[in-house]
Amino acid sequence: MKLIFLGPPGAGKGTVSVKAALTFGVPHISTGDIFRDAIRHGTELGHAVKDLIDAGQLVPDELTVDLVRERLDEPDAARGWMLDGFPRTIPQAEALDAFRPEDRVIDFAIDDAIVIARLSGRRVCPRCGASFNVVSMPPKEEGRCDACGGKLETRVDDREESVRSRIEVYRERTAPLIGYYERKGTLVRVDADRPAPLVLADVLALAGSL
Ligand code: ADP
Ligand code: ZN
Repeated sequence: MKLIFLGPPGAGKGTVSVKAALTFGVPHISTGDIFRDAIRHGTELGHAVKDLIDAGQLVPDELTVDLVRERLDEPDAARGWMLDGFPRTIPQAEALDAFRPEDRVIDFAIDDAIVIARLSGRRVCPRCGASFNVVSMPPKEEGRCDACGGKLETRVDDREESVRSRIEVYRERTAPLIGYYERKGTLVRVDADRPAPLVLADVLALAGSL
């Protein structure tokens, strides 16, 4: 099972793809998580990408593609994977096609106004990566992760200026992938403007039919 999760920031790809990957026992691979981990650990990669990410800009294709290539070569990815946040540009999609083509691309369709509202309420757990929303998906205890008890934070790139540039970058560089995969014949769409459990149910049904 090889699935790509496509959609604007705040569409819920992370929340849903983590659960879907657990259900099917394949690795959940998020380039955003890999970069944030590198930043937290102060690695060379982290230093290279920090300013771009905080500003809501994309990391260069070559660096991102090399990283994903290495990750997909790991033994746990032999049976399948769920890619969350990659590819994000046409060159990244072409690179993946030449290397490990996907079975399906799930596009999370949702309006800009809704994602802007969601991102401003998003809180993430730096320890385990779980994400919550003060309005639509609050944790059981305020400011604490339900999964591991970590102290929830607002991502630097969820601040207003960065959110706006991430959405612009999405429209310009990532949205063309919808047409790309439509032509290739692997695109399916889910309505992402619904509670996460409903979106997850659709994704599980789709993935289960592969
Ligand atoms: P979201 O989908 O919520 O915007 P991600 O966690 O997927 O966030 O990514 C956060 C940031 O990491 C992006 O804004 C970008 O700077 C960088 N990034 C993640 N994936 C890629 C990618 N495939 N290509 C380039 N940059 C990326
Ligand atoms: Zn946690």
